[in-house]
Amino acid sequence: MHEQSATGPHDTTTTERGSFALARCTCGWTGPARRSRERARTDADSHRGTVAQGRGVPT
Ligand SMILES: [Zn+2]
Repeated sequence: MHEQSATGPHDTTTTERGSFALARCTCGWTGPARRSRERARTDADSHRGTVAQGRGVPT
């Protein structure tokens, strides 16, 4: 099953777009384009930390 909810799991991945890397999440969130994948991963961790605090994701 792949149910998604506001508080569901947030599986983040990093995607490369041209010379940039950006983080994406299964909830639909997308991070800003970064010049390094490492930075994009930091954005992903930040996003997961934010939602873990129960702030949710703006729609
Ligand atoms: Zn998410």
